[in-house]
Amino acid sequence: MYSILNKIRQVFPTACPLCAMPAAGADLCDGCHRDLWQGRQTQAACRQCGGSLAHKLSSCGDCRRRLPAFALTVAAISFSYPGDLLIRGFKERGQLAHAGLFARMLSRAMSMQVPALPALQALVPIPSGHASLRKRGFNPAAELARELCRSTRIPLRQGWLRRTREASLQKTLNSAARRKSVEGLYACDESIPACWVGVVDDVMTSGSTLHQAALVLRQAGALGVVALVAARTPRGPEHAEDTRDSLA
Ligand SMILES: [Zn+2]
Ligand SMILES: [Zn+2]
Repeated sequence: MYSILNKIRQVFPTACPLCAMPAAGADLCDGCHRDLWQGRQTQAACRQCGGSLAHKLSSCGDCRRRLPAFALTVAAISFSYPGDLLIRGFKERGQLAHAGLFARMLSRAMSMQVPALPALQALVPIPSGHASLRKRGFNPAAELARELCRSTRIPLRQGWLRRTREASLQKTLNSAARRKSVEGLYACDESIPACWVGVVDDVMTSGSTLHQAALVLRQAGALGVVALVAARTPRGPEHAEDTRDSLA
C-alpha cells in the first residue's frame, strides 16, 4: 500500500511544503531542499553532539567537558528558519508526510559521513510521554524512525526503550536541572546484542534526552549509539532554549 501511494505521489505534482512551488513526491522543491541541506550539511558541527562550531573540530567544548553516551550525531536539517516551520508542521499540525522527507535527508546525510558511520543494526525511537501521545495522537520520533527504516533498511526495534515515568516540562529548567529531570526516564527490558544502535528523535537541543537513552541501551549491551535526528538546534546546547520540550 505504501509503495503504491508513493508511486502515485511521484506521478502527480505536489506543492513544496515550504514555498508551494511544484515539487514531486510530497518533497521539497529543489531550491528549498538546497537551502535546508546547505544550512545544515555544509556547516561546521561537533561530530559527537552535532552542535554548531565556528571551525571544523572533531568535538566541542561541551562534549569534552561532559562526554555524551552517544558517540556521534547526524541531523537532517538545522532547527532554524525555514526548517523549523517543517518541524512545527510535523509536530504541532500532524503533517506526517514530513517524516518521509526528514528520513530521506537524514539517510543521505548518514551515508555521506566522513569517516563512515559504524554499521547500525537497529533503529530505536525515543518513546513519547502519555500526555504528548494523547495530545498529538502520534509519536514524532517513532514516525521518523519508521520512515528511516524504509529508507535505510535498518530494522526498527521500538521495544528496546520504554518510558519509566512522565517527565516534568523541561522548558523552564536550566541545563543542569534539565539533565536531572531526564535521569532514569528510559529503561530497556531486553538484552541487546553487541551491536551499534541508532537512537532516533525529532529535535535535539541539549542532548540530555538522547544521552539518557544511549546510556540505557549501552548498559543493556549495545556496543555504541549514534543519535539520528530530524533537526538540531544550530547553537551549542548551553546557549539554546530547549525546543524539544517547548513543543512537547
Ligand atoms: Zn520550496
Ligand atoms: Zn559536542
